[in-house]
Amino acid sequence: MADQPAAPQPPEPPRYPLNWATIIMWLAMAVMTVNLLMNNASRTAEIPYSEFKEAVRSDKVEMIVLTGSEIAGRYKFMDGEQQSGFTSRLPSVADTELIPLLEAHKVVVQVRSTEHGPLLTLLINLLPWIFIIGLFFLSRQMLSKQFLPGGGGFTKSKARLAEPQDIKVRYDDIAGLQNAKADLREIIEYLKAPARYQKLGAHIPKGVLLMGPPGTGKTMLARATAGEAGVPFFSITGSEFVEMFVGVGASRVRDMFTEARQKAPSLIFIDEIDSVGRARSGAFGTNNDEREQTLNQILAEMDGFRAEETVVVLAATNRPDVLDAALLRPGRFDRKVTLDLPQKAAREEILKVHTRQVPVADDVNLATIAAGTVGFSGADLANLVNEAALLAARENRETVGQQAFENARDKILLGDRRETFLTPEEKNRVAYHEAGHALTAFDLPHGDVLRKISIIPRGKALGVTEQAPEEDRVNYGQHYLEDRITILLGGRSAEKMIFGEVSSGAADDLKQATHLARHMISEWGMSESLGPVTWDETQENFLGQTVSKPRDYSEHTAEKIDAEVSALIGRCEARVDALLLAQRERLDRLADSLMQHETLGEDDIRVLLAS
Ligand code: ATP
Repeated sequence: MADQPAAPQPPEPPRYPLNWATIIMWLAMAVMTVNLLMNNASRTAEIPYSEFKEAVRSDKVEMIVLTGSEIAGRYKFMDGEQQSGFTSRLPSVADTELIPLLEAHKVVVQVRSTEHGPLLTLLINLLPWIFIIGLFFLSRQMLSKQFLPGGGGFTKSKARLAEPQDIKVRYDDIAGLQNAKADLREIIEYLKAPARYQKLGAHIPKGVLLMGPPGTGKTMLARATAGEAGVPFFSITGSEFVEMFVGVGASRVRDMFTEARQKAPSLIFIDEIDSVGRARSGAFGTNNDEREQTLNQILAEMDGFRAEETVVVLAATNRPDVLDAALLRPGRFDRKVTLDLPQKAAREEILKVHTRQVPVADDVNLATIAAGTVGFSGADLANLVNEAALLAARENRETVGQQAFENARDKILLGDRRETFLTPEEKNRVAYHEAGHALTAFDLPHGDVLRKISIIPRGKALGVTEQAPEEDRVNYGQHYLEDRITILLGGRSAEKMIFGEVSSGAADDLKQATHLARHMISEWGMSESLGPVTWDETQENFLGQTVSKPRDYSEHTAEKIDAEVSALIGRCEARVDALLLAQRERLDRLADSLMQHETLGEDDIRVLLAS
């Protein structure tokens, strides 16, 4: 069998050995710092020589130390005043009056030599040089670890290689994602039997872009694709290419592609491709040059694949919108596969996959857990199962029950339980606040299903009213949004009605309500008087972050938007006030029950509020 090139090892964290150069450098730095601090610390008010003499004449000076032309002295203790020090300087012309004056006023005089001793003086003068030389040696060492032959290879690819026999994950281990799997089937067939395609002159995509929010299984899917095809899997993240030094990323790319070609058929996976593949903006900075060179090299390598080189590149991103158009051109990442957050059925499937190895109790209903985990990614669900198992283990249980799953979900969603002591009055206020939200949600036609109400403090919240839509929503109607704002105001409204005042506890509700109202008016055209116009106030900066942009509409329009936002919130408030006033008896019932049980589930709420 022909020798295979040595497999690249996973990158080691750089080690910086503690040798003499390092030690001396740190010592020099420490001495310089201490010196500086001591100089600063001992510095007291500097006074003119004339003022010093005047102080001696007025019997205010207790002692002085003369070091060369420097005078450091201490004032006498005066009634009520702190004893403090001063410094001054002797004039260059000898003052023959001074010594008799000091003697006459009984000032203690100490004279110190200005000499540090030859050795110390030499050392002090040499310190900055020692520091610079130490720094030079240290940086040489750090770089040689990376640059010198056999020293770790700064320019060598940092990609991790998994041989086919080491890749255990298969498509069966990935729940849902049917479309994505179907899209990649062709790639698997091609990698398995490239000759079949090459014979017919068929062009298989060289690059596939996996797009989707974090944790939706992009890495897992890429790895499983290599697993299914039985080919070596090279994986790297975009940021691992880019270093401080221009050109390093490009040579790492070259190196990685060379190795992948040698191992063809093979699969390269570049995670977070956006960190090198952002649209070239012409912005300043070395890092940008480095990024561009790296990107160009990736493109050049992909263009340079020969027909017999069966290397497929999968890349992942959760920011496809910021990618450079050149990456998406035919012959590069021209096939795109989207991975969305899983819907309810897919969440249940993912939970099934992850509970395969977990002894699940009979009472566990994965469908209910899936229904209560809207917005969870595959990674979140894997984490949920693990948290539940940890909780069950902590309680010394043999199996993981439904309650453990519920508690794990609450922990992930709302944070840990908080040991906050609330007085009965405070607790009562929280109970009414949550009851206000819940009753409004229950009664309004577009309120999402109530899953739970709790007045146990968790994370930052003192209580929580949890609603989850029956099905995951992707679009929101105006009535739904208005009801949402009304529900958000329900807690504050209940407090106002019962306790005659509002509290700071509604701050987050108000923030969310205002945010929603502003979106409705200024972005989604949901104001009658302003009409179907959008006034978005955000834009992306060159780093791809969403930032506020300067307002590009008139002050008059801005005032109208503000007025509409206030009017909308005002209407919702009037609505919730009226609702709660009319339902006072049910509100009391719910709040009392919360005071008693602290947490109410979906069924309890339904029974309590049904009549
Ligand atoms: P990121 O964008 O943060 O890199 P990603 O999309 O690459 O995330 P992965 O790293 O592939 O996500 O997924 C993380 C973990 O989530 C996986 O190891 C797996 O345990 C779980 N997971 C995600 N999606 C699924 C799925 N569809 N089926 C089973 N497990 C999944």
